[in-house]
Amino acid sequence: MTDLVCSSKGCRAQAQWALRWNNPKLHTAERRKVWLACDDHRQHLENFLAARSFLRDTIPTSELPPG
Ligand SMILES: [Zn+2]
Repeated sequence: MTDLVCSSKGCRAQAQWALRWNNPKLHTAERRKVWLACDDHRQHLENFLAARSFLRDTIPTSELPPG
């Protein structure tokens, strides 16, 4: 799982969190986009998605389904 890198711009830290989100204007309701976040950027990325009502849930990357 060493290839899980934080999605925050310019950050190369290993991601601990997977933020699962959906933009109803672009995606079907069941679709989940995933942003990865390190501890430092989790809150920032969650706030960004939550402000747009896109955030569905956040799970540890260890619980991400394979693929
Ligand atoms: Zn980061």
